[in-house]
Amino acid sequence: MKQHKIILWVIMIALVLSSFSLLYVGVSEYQLARTHRRASLQSEDSGSPVWSVHVLDVGQGDAIFVELPGDIQMLVDGGVDDTVLSRLSEVMFPWDRSIDYIVITHPHADHINGLIEVLERYDVKNVLIDNVVYDSVPYEILRERIASEGSVVIDPDDIDTLISGEVAVDVIYPSPEIVVDVGDDVNEGSIVLKIYDGTNSILLTGDAGNDVEEQIGSVIGDIDILKVGHHGSTYGTSRAFLDKVSPEVAVISLGEDNDYGHPHTSTLKRLADFGVEVFRTDLQGTVSIDFFGDGYEVGG
Ligand SMILES: [Zn+2]
Repeated sequence: MKQHKIILWVIMIALVLSSFSLLYVGVSEYQLARTHRRASLQSEDSGSPVWSVHVLDVGQGDAIFVELPGDIQMLVDGGVDDTVLSRLSEVMFPWDRSIDYIVITHPHADHINGLIEVLERYDVKNVLIDNVVYDSVPYEILRERIASEGSVVIDPDDIDTLISGEVAVDVIYPSPEIVVDVGDDVNEGSIVLKIYDGTNSILLTGDAGNDVEEQIGSVIGDIDILKVGHHGSTYGTSRAFLDKVSPEVAVISLGEDNDYGHPHTSTLKRLADFGVEVFRTDLQGTVSIDFFGDGYEVGG
């Protein structure tokens, strides 16, 4: 009896010790995965990031907050409701009540509804918006708010570069040089932005799908990070596009158990086949990417 007890204790201690070591290995591997890109690119720690992109967790929709050098802030879309306000409070100081640029990729509710309250509560200096005809009450209210806000309204057709400097923001599409037959599909009219420094780049695609990808792929060249188009729908992120832009990391912005079946398994399969590491706001919450001028780190 006594001997049995001793054997039981030995087994229990062995189990506890082995689970601790497993936990330790798990943590080290996670840390390794999180920092390997940057470690492989540089040797010394340069401290705080030069610029950051936060793909905010706003459920099914898009809202992406960008912090650029010179304290320039940009919000690309605002999600389907006011969730964006609490998410902004996580990445902005409470006394900061202004945003330099708002970009409205296209007029669908899951991209614009939250922007109505953002315009109410923040001083918005510039708005990049395409002149799209789209019949919806929120879109009408949003346009009225922009007008009463007195923001500078910029048409994407008129510019190639929204912000220039150490970190640039290029308007890839729409552009007079790129012709896509969008019909009445406003997704395919989504504003596409490329943000980049001398080393790294991220592509924000709104809800653009295959037709746009086909036209812009060769213009863009290699990127590091892809904000996947249309919440990971099967009608975008084609093999041809992945082959042309070859991202290392993909971020999908979407809500848990959404009604659209996003992300589509075929999209995830294509990303996996190309060896792209995928981050998802439905699983990880807000996904933040910090750029250091010589590499980047992705964190959930
Ligand atoms: Zn959408």
